[in-house]
Amino acid sequence: MTKLAKIVIVNSPHEDFEYEKRELSSIAEIHIARCETYEELFSAAKDADVLMIGDISHIPLRREILLRLHNVKLISVYGVSVDTIDLETAQELGITVTNAPTYGTEDVADHAVSLLLALIRRIPMIDYELRRMKWKALRSNVRVLKERFGPFRRLSSLTVGLLGFGRIGRAVARRLHPFKCKVIGYDPYVCKEIFEEYGVMKKNFKDFLSEADVISIHATLTKDTYHLLNEEAFQQMKDGVFIVNTSRGAIIDEKSLIKYLKNGKVAGAALDVFEEEPLPDNHPLMECPNVILTPHIGWYTEEAMLDQKKETTLNVKEFLLGREPPFIVVKGKRF
Ligand code: NAD
Repeated sequence: MTKLAKIVIVNSPHEDFEYEKRELSSIAEIHIARCETYEELFSAAKDADVLMIGDISHIPLRREILLRLHNVKLISVYGVSVDTIDLETAQELGITVTNAPTYGTEDVADHAVSLLLALIRRIPMIDYELRRMKWKALRSNVRVLKERFGPFRRLSSLTVGLLGFGRIGRAVARRLHPFKCKVIGYDPYVCKEIFEEYGVMKKNFKDFLSEADVISIHATLTKDTYHLLNEEAFQQMKDGVFIVNTSRGAIIDEKSLIKYLKNGKVAGAALDVFEEEPLPDNHPLMECPNVILTPHIGWYTEEAMLDQKKETTLNVKEFLLGREPPFIVVKGKRF
């Protein structure tokens, strides 16, 4: 009888593993581990052929760690981001790395558009003031609203700028279409024809910044996009611009954002992601009245949770059956 492969699921975001067991138990033995330290990781992952990993940000798979995981042939990540793995070393060692890139596309797009609408209509701020000041003080006095929150604008008269036009950027463009606003985009890696397919006008960075009334961020975080929205970029934006970020916090220089939120150049921001996560309790953004904050939950729906399991598990199943996994980040050699 041939020996079954050994899968170790480390710090998965999920509580139950029925799906993984149903799909994989005929070809592998499955072990579940929660690891806080490298000692616990080495003890759990000893002899593993496959690691399925969730949040290992406190125990990233750096070079010296990967070198000790002699038997690992596949690392399948529950999620999009593979920044907890030294990909160069994985490549060198012949370890395949896969991710789950599409599970939350629709959900993050829903979240981004929800934030955008809530922001330009100031929904959470008005809800708060209504409870505090009561109906009459708000409803009967547009001046109070205007003074407190700035002038409201009709979405169909605004230009929405999508910074990054990959899966989520395109899903947002599809959702914006019925609102009849003008949509522009900046993504140097996507051709004009693809933008046009989605009814979006491709712009260079300078024009993008100066034309958008609302900027919604959907680019990946790279060394080029780190602090792409910095002091200089904010200065080029329209007065009263709105910013929505569901991508990665560090694409915005938060210090500059806070400065421009305070002086009114930025009318408001809706943020699901931050330079530092978890967002510290005493962070200055917590004190900004014109900001909507959500705790990096843009991806979350029950449907997305299941899709994440499906993508992560399918990568493992295909690999163990000797076929190419669908979502490869690093193509390895170890089998
Ligand atoms: P994607 O890879 O499909 O698209 C990213 C786009 O960014 C690509 O089109 C790429 O060309 C573009 N890009 C790269 N460098 C750029 C630059 N210098 N300027 C402008 N654009 C640039 O990724 P996606 O699935 O659309 O995800 C987008 C972002 O959303 C990622 O950062 C991802 O981490 C984030 N995300 C957030 C959540 C959440 O819960 N908030 C969940 C999933 C993904």
